[in-house]
Amino acid sequence: MIRPTVATVDLAAIQANLRAIQGLLVRESARAPRESSPRIIAVLKANAYGHGASAVGRALEEAGAAMLACADIEEGVALRQSGVTLPILVFGALSVSDLDGIFEHRLTPTVSTPAAARALERAAAARNVQLHCHLKIDTGMNRLGFRHDNLPRTMPEVLGSAHLRIEAVYTHFATADLPESAFLDEQRSRFDRATAALGAMGLRSFTRHAANSAALLRDTRTWYDAVRPGLLLYGIVPPPLAAGDLRLRPALSLTSRIVAVKGLRRGEGTGYGLRWTTDEPRSIAIVPAGYADGLDTRLSGRAAVLVRGRRVPIVGSVCMDMIMIDVTGLDVSPGDEVVLIGRQEDEEITAREMAAAIGSIPWEVTCRLGSRIQREYK
Ligand SMILES: *Cc1c(COP(=O)(O)O)cnc(C)c1O
Repeated sequence: MIRPTVATVDLAAIQANLRAIQGLLVRESARAPRESSPRIIAVLKANAYGHGASAVGRALEEAGAAMLACADIEEGVALRQSGVTLPILVFGALSVSDLDGIFEHRLTPTVSTPAAARALERAAAARNVQLHCHLKIDTGMNRLGFRHDNLPRTMPEVLGSAHLRIEAVYTHFATADLPESAFLDEQRSRFDRATAALGAMGLRSFTRHAANSAALLRDTRTWYDAVRPGLLLYGIVPPPLAAGDLRLRPALSLTSRIVAVKGLRRGEGTGYGLRWTTDEPRSIAIVPAGYADGLDTRLSGRAAVLVRGRRVPIVGSVCMDMIMIDVTGLDVSPGDEVVLIGRQEDEEITAREMAAAIGSIPWEVTCRLGSRIQREYK
Protein backbone atom coordinates (compact mmCIF):
# COMPACT_ATOMS: atom_id res chain seq x y z
CA MET A 1 0.00 0.00 0.00
CA ILE A 2 1.33 3.38 -0.95
CA ARG A 3 -0.02 6.64 0.41
CA PRO A 4 -0.81 9.27 -2.20
CA THR A 5 2.00 11.54 -1.02
CA VAL A 6 5.30 10.20 -2.32
CA ALA A 7 8.85 11.49 -2.56
CA THR A 8 10.39 10.23 -5.78
CA VAL A 9 14.18 10.15 -5.66
CA ASP A 10 16.07 9.97 -8.93
CA LEU A 11 19.27 8.11 -8.04
CA ALA A 12 20.62 8.53 -11.56
CA ALA A 13 20.35 12.31 -11.08
CA ILE A 14 22.40 12.08 -7.86
CA GLN A 15 25.02 10.01 -9.68
CA ALA A 16 25.03 12.48 -12.57
CA ASN A 17 25.44 15.37 -10.11
CA LEU A 18 28.45 13.63 -8.53
CA ARG A 19 30.00 13.17 -11.98
CA ALA A 20 29.24 16.78 -12.92
CA ILE A 21 31.06 17.97 -9.79
CA GLN A 22 33.93 15.59 -10.56
CA GLY A 23 34.07 17.05 -14.07
CA LEU A 24 34.29 20.59 -12.67
CA LEU A 25 37.06 19.56 -10.25
CA VAL A 26 39.05 17.91 -13.03
CA ARG A 27 38.61 20.81 -15.50
CA GLU A 28 39.55 23.52 -13.05
CA SER A 29 42.43 21.53 -11.57
CA ALA A 30 43.91 21.11 -15.04
CA ARG A 31 44.06 24.92 -15.32
CA ALA A 32 45.76 25.58 -12.03
CA PRO A 33 48.99 23.73 -11.36
CA ARG A 34 47.89 20.93 -9.01
CA GLU A 35 49.15 17.44 -8.52
CA SER A 36 45.71 15.87 -8.89
CA SER A 37 42.10 16.93 -8.75
CA PRO A 38 40.35 16.79 -5.37
CA ARG A 39 38.34 13.76 -4.36
CA ILE A 40 34.73 13.92 -3.25
CA ILE A 41 33.53 13.23 0.27
CA ALA A 42 29.78 12.92 -0.32
CA VAL A 43 27.70 14.25 2.58
CA LEU A 44 24.70 12.08 3.51
CA LYS A 45 23.79 13.26 6.97
CA ALA A 46 20.13 13.47 8.04
CA ASN A 47 19.06 10.50 5.93
CA ALA A 48 20.86 11.96 2.89
CA TYR A 49 19.07 15.30 3.29
CA GLY A 50 15.76 13.44 3.41
CA HIS A 51 16.44 11.45 0.22
CA GLY A 52 17.09 8.12 1.98
CA ALA A 53 20.66 7.35 3.10
CA SER A 54 20.82 3.66 2.19
CA ALA A 55 19.83 3.99 -1.45
CA VAL A 56 21.75 7.24 -1.92
CA GLY A 57 24.86 5.82 -0.23
CA ARG A 58 24.94 2.80 -2.53
CA ALA A 59 24.33 4.99 -5.60
CA LEU A 60 27.17 7.36 -4.68
CA GLU A 61 29.55 4.50 -3.99
CA GLU A 62 28.76 3.06 -7.42
CA ALA A 63 29.24 6.48 -9.04
CA GLY A 64 32.75 6.94 -7.63
CA ALA A 65 32.60 8.97 -4.43
CA ALA A 66 35.84 8.62 -2.44
CA MET A 67 34.23 8.71 0.98
CA LEU A 68 30.82 9.27 2.54
CA ALA A 69 30.13 11.52 5.53
CA CYS A 70 27.36 11.51 8.10
CA ALA A 71 26.47 13.24 11.35
CA ASP A 72 26.79 10.54 13.99
CA ILE A 73 27.69 6.91 14.65
CA GLU A 74 24.10 5.72 14.25
CA GLU A 75 23.92 7.15 10.73
CA GLY A 76 27.26 5.56 9.90
CA VAL A 77 26.11 2.15 11.13
CA ALA A 78 22.93 2.44 9.04
CA LEU A 79 25.04 3.20 5.95
CA ARG A 80 27.27 0.18 6.61
CA GLN A 81 24.24 -2.05 7.10
CA SER A 82 22.95 -0.98 3.71
CA GLY A 83 26.07 -2.51 2.18
CA VAL A 84 28.30 0.53 1.68
CA THR A 85 32.00 -0.41 1.78
CA LEU A 86 33.53 3.07 1.24
CA PRO A 87 35.18 4.80 4.18
CA ILE A 88 32.58 6.73 6.20
CA LEU A 89 33.49 9.94 8.03
CA VAL A 90 31.46 10.85 11.13
CA PHE A 91 31.29 14.63 11.62
CA GLY A 92 29.80 14.82 15.10
CA ALA A 93 31.48 15.26 18.46
CA LEU A 94 31.72 11.82 20.05
CA SER A 95 32.68 12.74 23.60
CA VAL A 96 29.42 11.40 25.05
CA SER A 97 28.75 8.61 22.53
CA ASP A 98 28.91 4.85 22.81
CA LEU A 99 31.94 4.28 20.55
CA ASP A 100 31.52 0.55 19.81
CA GLY A 101 29.94 1.27 16.41
CA ILE A 102 33.11 3.05 15.26
CA PHE A 103 35.12 -0.15 15.60
CA GLU A 104 32.48 -2.71 14.71
CA HIS A 105 31.51 -0.89 11.51
CA ARG A 106 34.84 0.61 10.49
CA LEU A 107 33.78 4.26 10.73
CA THR A 108 36.23 7.17 10.59
CA PRO A 109 35.55 9.49 13.53
CA THR A 110 36.29 13.19 13.75
CA VAL A 111 38.49 14.31 16.63
CA SER A 112 36.97 17.69 17.35
CA THR A 113 37.23 18.23 21.11
CA PRO A 114 39.75 17.28 23.81
CA ALA A 115 37.16 15.03 25.45
CA ALA A 116 36.50 13.20 22.16
CA ALA A 117 40.24 12.72 21.62
CA ARG A 118 40.58 11.14 25.06
CA ALA A 119 37.52 8.92 24.65
CA LEU A 120 38.67 7.71 21.22
CA GLU A 121 42.24 7.09 22.39
CA ARG A 122 40.98 5.10 25.39
CA ALA A 123 38.62 3.02 23.25
CA ALA A 124 41.28 2.32 20.61
CA ALA A 125 43.87 1.43 23.25
CA ALA A 126 41.43 -0.98 24.93
CA ARG A 127 41.02 -2.77 21.60
CA ASN A 128 44.73 -2.44 20.81
CA VAL A 129 44.08 -0.97 17.35
CA GLN A 130 45.22 2.09 15.41
CA LEU A 131 42.12 4.17 14.77
CA HIS A 132 42.12 6.22 11.57
CA CYS A 133 40.51 9.59 12.20
CA HIS A 134 40.16 13.12 10.89
CA LEU A 135 41.09 16.13 12.99
CA LYS A 136 38.82 19.18 12.94
CA ILE A 137 40.19 22.69 13.31
CA ASP A 138 37.87 25.56 14.24
CA THR A 139 38.94 28.50 12.06
CA GLY A 140 36.18 30.86 13.15
CA MET A 141 32.80 29.15 12.96
CA ASN A 142 33.08 28.61 16.71
CA ARG A 143 31.21 25.37 16.71
CA LEU A 144 33.16 22.10 16.79
CA GLY A 145 36.91 21.76 16.37
CA PHE A 146 40.14 22.78 18.07
CA ARG A 147 40.72 26.54 17.97
CA HIS A 148 43.15 27.44 15.20
CA ASP A 149 44.98 29.87 17.53
CA ASN A 150 45.42 27.49 20.44
CA LEU A 151 47.10 24.49 18.82
CA PRO A 152 50.37 24.62 20.78
CA ARG A 153 48.27 24.07 23.92
CA THR A 154 45.84 21.45 22.64
CA MET A 155 47.75 19.42 20.09
CA PRO A 156 50.53 17.77 22.12
CA GLU A 157 48.04 15.46 23.81
CA VAL A 158 46.15 14.70 20.58
CA LEU A 159 49.28 14.13 18.50
CA GLY A 160 50.72 12.04 21.31
CA SER A 161 47.74 9.68 21.37
CA ALA A 162 49.44 6.44 20.42
CA HIS A 163 46.32 4.78 19.02
CA LEU A 164 44.98 7.66 16.94
CA ARG A 165 46.22 7.86 13.36
CA ILE A 166 45.22 11.30 11.99
CA GLU A 167 44.93 10.84 8.25
CA ALA A 168 43.22 14.15 7.44
CA VAL A 169 42.69 17.62 8.88
CA TYR A 170 39.62 19.68 8.07
CA THR A 171 37.68 22.82 8.82
CA HIS A 172 34.20 24.16 8.03
CA PHE A 173 33.27 27.58 6.64
CA ALA A 174 30.74 29.83 8.34
CA THR A 175 30.05 32.26 5.48
CA ALA A 176 30.63 30.36 2.24
CA ASP A 177 27.11 31.24 1.06
CA LEU A 178 27.48 34.96 1.79
CA PRO A 179 29.26 36.18 -1.34
CA GLU A 180 29.95 39.61 0.12
CA SER A 181 31.68 38.23 3.22
CA ALA A 182 35.48 38.23 3.26
CA PHE A 183 35.49 35.83 6.21
CA LEU A 184 35.81 32.83 3.87
CA ASP A 185 39.28 34.08 2.93
CA GLU A 186 40.15 34.68 6.55
CA GLN A 187 39.13 31.13 7.52
CA ARG A 188 41.10 29.74 4.58
CA SER A 189 44.26 31.59 5.67
CA ARG A 190 43.81 30.42 9.25
CA PHE A 191 43.41 26.85 7.99
CA ASP A 192 46.61 27.15 5.91
CA ARG A 193 48.52 28.40 8.93
CA ALA A 194 47.02 25.77 11.25
CA THR A 195 47.89 22.88 8.96
CA ALA A 196 51.41 24.25 8.51
CA ALA A 197 51.72 24.41 12.29
CA LEU A 198 50.54 20.81 12.62
CA GLY A 199 53.24 19.77 10.16
CA ALA A 200 55.80 21.63 12.25
CA MET A 201 54.54 19.79 15.34
CA GLY A 202 55.32 16.51 13.65
CA LEU A 203 52.03 15.46 12.05
CA ARG A 204 52.95 13.64 8.84
CA SER A 205 51.23 12.61 5.60
CA PHE A 206 47.77 13.98 6.17
CA THR A 207 45.30 15.29 3.61
CA ARG A 208 43.21 18.46 3.97
CA HIS A 209 39.59 19.29 3.21
CA ALA A 210 37.32 22.26 3.83
CA ALA A 211 34.77 23.05 1.12
CA ASN A 212 31.03 22.53 1.45
CA SER A 213 28.85 23.11 -1.63
CA ALA A 214 28.97 26.90 -1.43
CA ALA A 215 32.74 27.12 -0.95
CA LEU A 216 33.25 24.60 -3.74
CA LEU A 217 31.31 26.90 -6.09
CA ARG A 218 32.93 30.10 -4.89
CA ASP A 219 36.63 29.52 -4.68
CA THR A 220 38.92 26.81 -6.07
CA ARG A 221 41.45 27.65 -3.35
CA THR A 222 39.13 25.99 -0.81
CA TRP A 223 39.34 22.63 -2.57
CA TYR A 224 42.59 21.20 -1.09
CA ASP A 225 42.71 17.37 -1.37
CA ALA A 226 38.98 16.73 -1.10
CA VAL A 227 35.69 18.63 -1.15
CA ARG A 228 32.58 17.89 0.92
CA PRO A 229 29.45 18.71 -1.07
CA GLY A 230 26.04 17.89 0.31
CA LEU A 231 23.33 20.05 -1.22
CA LEU A 232 24.85 20.10 -4.73
CA LEU A 233 24.68 16.30 -4.93
CA TYR A 234 20.93 16.52 -4.55
CA GLY A 235 20.76 18.98 -7.44
CA ILE A 236 20.16 22.12 -5.37
CA VAL A 237 22.43 25.17 -5.52
CA PRO A 238 22.91 26.95 -2.18
CA PRO A 239 21.12 30.29 -2.32
CA PRO A 240 21.97 32.93 -3.38
CA LEU A 241 24.77 31.36 -5.45
CA ALA A 242 24.51 30.32 -9.09
CA ALA A 243 25.76 27.03 -10.50
CA GLY A 244 27.88 28.64 -13.24
CA ASP A 245 28.55 25.96 -15.84
CA LEU A 246 27.89 23.12 -13.41
CA ARG A 247 24.88 21.22 -14.75
CA LEU A 248 22.80 19.68 -11.96
CA ARG A 249 19.47 17.87 -11.84
CA PRO A 250 17.17 18.08 -8.81
CA ALA A 251 16.93 14.55 -7.43
CA LEU A 252 13.78 14.79 -5.38
CA SER A 253 10.20 15.46 -6.31
CA LEU A 254 7.29 15.47 -3.90
CA THR A 255 3.89 14.65 -5.29
CA SER A 256 0.45 13.86 -4.00
CA ARG A 257 -3.09 13.49 -5.30
CA ILE A 258 -6.27 15.44 -4.79
CA VAL A 259 -8.59 13.50 -2.47
CA ALA A 260 -11.59 15.86 -2.49
CA VAL A 261 -12.88 18.97 -4.25
CA LYS A 262 -15.48 21.26 -2.80
CA GLY A 263 -17.18 24.59 -3.36
CA LEU A 264 -16.94 27.49 -0.94
CA ARG A 265 -19.75 30.03 -0.87
CA ARG A 266 -19.41 33.77 -0.48
CA GLY A 267 -18.24 34.64 3.07
CA GLU A 268 -17.03 31.14 3.97
CA GLY A 269 -13.55 30.16 5.07
CA THR A 270 -11.48 26.98 5.22
CA GLY A 271 -9.27 25.30 7.79
CA TYR A 272 -8.40 26.00 11.43
CA GLY A 273 -9.20 29.55 12.45
CA LEU A 274 -10.95 30.11 9.12
CA ARG A 275 -7.99 32.35 8.40
CA TRP A 276 -8.63 32.30 4.68
CA THR A 277 -12.10 33.44 3.66
CA THR A 278 -13.59 34.26 0.30
CA ASP A 279 -16.05 36.92 -0.80
CA GLU A 280 -16.95 35.08 -3.97
CA PRO A 281 -17.68 31.41 -4.74
CA ARG A 282 -14.47 29.39 -5.07
CA SER A 283 -13.35 25.79 -5.49
CA ILE A 284 -10.80 24.28 -3.19
CA ALA A 285 -9.12 20.88 -3.33
CA ILE A 286 -7.85 18.86 -0.39
CA VAL A 287 -4.36 17.32 -0.60
CA PRO A 288 -3.36 14.64 1.95
CA ALA A 289 -0.01 16.05 3.13
CA GLY A 290 0.51 18.36 6.09
CA TYR A 291 2.98 19.50 8.68
CA ALA A 292 3.38 15.95 9.96
CA ASP A 293 4.87 15.22 6.55
CA GLY A 294 7.28 18.13 6.87
CA LEU A 295 5.27 20.84 5.13
CA ASP A 296 5.91 24.11 6.91
CA THR A 297 2.91 25.89 8.44
CA ARG A 298 4.14 29.14 6.90
CA LEU A 299 3.47 27.79 3.39
CA SER A 300 -0.14 28.89 3.69
CA GLY A 301 -0.72 32.04 1.68
CA ARG A 302 2.93 32.11 0.57
CA ALA A 303 3.49 29.10 -1.64
CA ALA A 304 1.94 27.30 -4.58
CA VAL A 305 1.64 23.75 -5.87
CA LEU A 306 1.19 22.50 -9.43
CA VAL A 307 -2.09 21.03 -10.67
CA ARG A 308 -2.81 20.41 -14.34
CA GLY A 309 0.35 22.29 -15.24
CA ARG A 310 -0.71 25.43 -13.36
CA ARG A 311 0.46 27.07 -10.15
CA VAL A 312 -2.29 27.20 -7.57
CA PRO A 313 -1.97 28.75 -4.10
CA ILE A 314 -2.01 26.93 -0.77
CA VAL A 315 -4.86 28.50 1.24
CA GLY A 316 -6.08 28.18 4.83
CA SER A 317 -3.93 26.75 7.56
CA VAL A 318 -1.51 23.90 6.85
CA CYS A 319 -3.01 21.07 8.93
CA MET A 320 -1.28 18.03 10.41
CA ASP A 321 -2.29 15.73 7.54
CA MET A 322 -3.77 18.00 4.86
CA ILE A 323 -3.49 21.23 2.94
CA MET A 324 -6.13 23.05 0.95
CA ILE A 325 -5.42 24.59 -2.44
CA ASP A 326 -7.46 27.07 -4.43
CA VAL A 327 -8.39 25.42 -7.74
CA THR A 328 -11.09 27.88 -8.79
CA GLY A 329 -11.55 27.79 -12.56
CA LEU A 330 -9.66 24.53 -13.07
CA ASP A 331 -11.34 21.31 -14.03
CA VAL A 332 -9.94 19.03 -11.31
CA SER A 333 -11.16 15.84 -9.68
CA PRO A 334 -10.04 13.42 -6.99
CA GLY A 335 -7.01 11.48 -8.17
CA ASP A 336 -5.41 14.37 -10.05
CA GLU A 337 -1.69 14.72 -9.44
CA VAL A 338 -0.43 17.58 -7.23
CA VAL A 339 3.25 18.52 -7.39
CA LEU A 340 4.63 20.15 -4.25
CA ILE A 341 8.28 19.99 -5.37
CA GLY A 342 9.22 19.11 -8.93
CA ARG A 343 8.00 19.49 -12.50
CA GLN A 344 4.60 19.24 -14.08
CA GLU A 345 4.23 20.04 -17.77
CA ASP A 346 6.11 23.34 -18.27
CA GLU A 347 6.06 24.46 -14.66
CA GLU A 348 8.53 23.69 -11.88
CA ILE A 349 8.67 24.32 -8.16
CA THR A 350 12.10 23.78 -6.62
CA ALA A 351 13.06 23.15 -3.00
CA ARG A 352 14.96 26.43 -3.21
CA GLU A 353 11.77 28.27 -4.25
CA MET A 354 9.74 26.61 -1.49
CA ALA A 355 12.38 27.58 1.08
CA ALA A 356 12.49 31.18 -0.15
CA ALA A 357 8.70 31.44 0.13
CA ILE A 358 8.81 30.73 3.86
CA GLY A 359 12.08 32.44 4.73
CA SER A 360 13.88 29.13 5.23
CA ILE A 361 16.72 27.30 3.48
CA PRO A 362 16.55 24.36 1.05
CA TRP A 363 18.53 22.10 3.39
CA GLU A 364 15.72 22.39 5.94
CA VAL A 365 12.98 21.79 3.37
CA THR A 366 14.37 18.45 2.20
CA CYS A 367 15.60 17.26 5.62
CA ARG A 368 12.20 17.80 7.15
CA LEU A 369 10.31 15.55 4.76
CA GLY A 370 8.56 13.29 7.20
CA SER A 371 9.14 9.62 7.85
CA ARG A 372 5.52 8.99 6.87
CA ILE A 373 6.35 9.89 3.27
CA GLN A 374 7.33 6.89 1.22
CA ARG A 375 10.51 7.28 -0.85
CA GLU A 376 10.31 5.71 -4.28
CA TYR A 377 13.54 5.26 -6.18
CA LYS A 378 13.99 5.42 -9.89
C1 LIG B 1 26.66 19.46 6.10
C2 LIG B 1 28.12 19.60 5.97
C3 LIG B 1 28.72 19.71 4.70
C4 LIG B 1 27.92 19.80 3.42
O1 LIG B 1 27.25 21.04 3.35
P1 LIG B 1 26.46 21.51 2.04
O2 LIG B 1 26.25 22.95 2.29
O3 LIG B 1 25.18 20.74 2.02
O4 LIG B 1 27.32 21.23 0.88
C5 LIG B 1 30.10 19.73 4.65
N1 LIG B 1 30.85 19.68 5.77
C6 LIG B 1 30.31 19.60 7.01
C7 LIG B 1 31.19 19.54 8.20
C8 LIG B 1 28.93 19.56 7.14
O5 LIG B 1 28.39 19.49 8.36
